Amino acid sequence: MAPIILSIRDVAKAFGNLRALDGVSLDVEERKVVILIGPNGSGKTTLINVISGLYKPDSGRILFQKRDATGLAPFKLYDMGLARTFQIPALFWKLTVLENLLVAEKGNPGESFFKSLKIVGLRSWNDFFRPWRDTASGWKMIRGLARVKVRIQGSPARRTKIHVKDYIKFFWSLGKATLKPWKDFFTPAWQENEMQTAAKAARILRLLGLSRVWDQPAYLLSGGQMKLVEIGRALMSDAKLLLLDEPVSGVNPTLAHEIFSRLLTLRDELGLTFFIVEHRLDVALQYVDQMFVMALGKVIASGLPKEVVKDKRVIEAYLGG
Ligand code: ADP
Ligand code: MG
Repeated sequence: MAPIILSIRDVAKAFGNLRALDGVSLDVEERKVVILIGPNGSGKTTLINVISGLYKPDSGRILFQKRDATGLAPFKLYDMGLARTFQIPALFWKLTVLENLLVAEKGNPGESFFKSLKIVGLRSWNDFFRPWRDTASGWKMIRGLARVKVRIQGSPARRTKIHVKDYIKFFWSLGKATLKPWKDFFTPAWQENEMQTAAKAARILRLLGLSRVWDQPAYLLSGGQMKLVEIGRALMSDAKLLLLDEPVSGVNPTLAHEIFSRLLTLRDELGLTFFIVEHRLDVALQYVDQMFVMALGKVIASGLPKEVVKDKRVIEAYLGG
C-alpha cells in the first residue's frame, strides 16, 4: 500500500440542525486519483471545504502528510502543499493564461522590498569563481594564450607590432567569456525568481496542453480550458494534493476526457495526488484509482470504482436520493 497523504478521522460539521458531515473517516493514498461521489446534498463540497480550511470542523481530525491540519487557515494549508479548485472557476478574467499562473506563485521575493534586492550570486562564493572553472571559457582562454604565443614566436618586427594588439584581444575575449556568468552572479533575486517562475509556468502549461493559448485573456477560454487553468494555478503552489470540486461539470465529453487524462499525466509526471468530487461517472470511472461514496454526511462505501458502483448501498443511495 502506498503511503497515506491525507487522513480524515471522524470529522463532523453541522449547519444549525443539519449534519452536513456526520462522522466522516477516510484515507487517501499518495499518487492516486481518488474520486468522491454521492447524491446532491450528501456533504461532498462541505468535506472539501473542511479539508481545505474554508470551514473548521466541529470535531474530528485531519492529517495531511502526517501533520495535524485540522482547522488550519487555507493559506497555511496552501503553504504545506494542499491546494484546491472551485466548482465555478475563479480566474483573473482580464489577465492572460500565463499571467493567471504567474500571480498564483507563492513566496515571491518581489513581495518584500529588501528580499527582492538581494543579489542571487551572493548565496554562494562558488558561483563567483564559476566563470574560471567553466570549460567553455577555459578553452577560450587557452586558445587566446596559444595565439599570443604564436605571435611572440614570429619575426621580431611583427612581434612588437602585433604584440600589444594580441594582448588586448586576449583580455577582451577573456572578459567576454566571463562576463555572462558574472552578470548572472549579480542578478537581483527578484529577477532570477521571475525567470524560474516563468519556466515553471511554461512547464505546467505544457503538461496541461495550454501552451497554445498562453497569451489569451482568460475570458476567451472555453469552459474546459478555464478548469485546466484553475488546476494550473493550483500547481504553481507546488501542491502535493489537489482537491478538485467538479472539474468536468459543464464541460463537453471530449474535453472532459482530456481533463481526466491530463490529471493522470500530472499524477505520473509530478507525483501528485487528486481528491476529486465529481458526479459525471460516465467520464470519470475509467480514470480513477479509488472511489468513496457519501450519503447523508457519511461515507457509505469505498474501494475500486468498478466494484463500488455495483454495491447495493450505493445503488440505493442514488435511487433513493
Ligand atoms: P454536495 O456537495 O454533496 O451536493 P454540500 O456539501 O454542498 O453537498 O451540502 C451538504 C448539505 O449541507 C446540504 O444540505 C446543504 O444545503 C448544506 N450546506 C452546505 N453548505 C452550507 C452552508 N454554508 N450553510 C448552510 N447549509 C449548508
Ligand atoms: Mg457540491
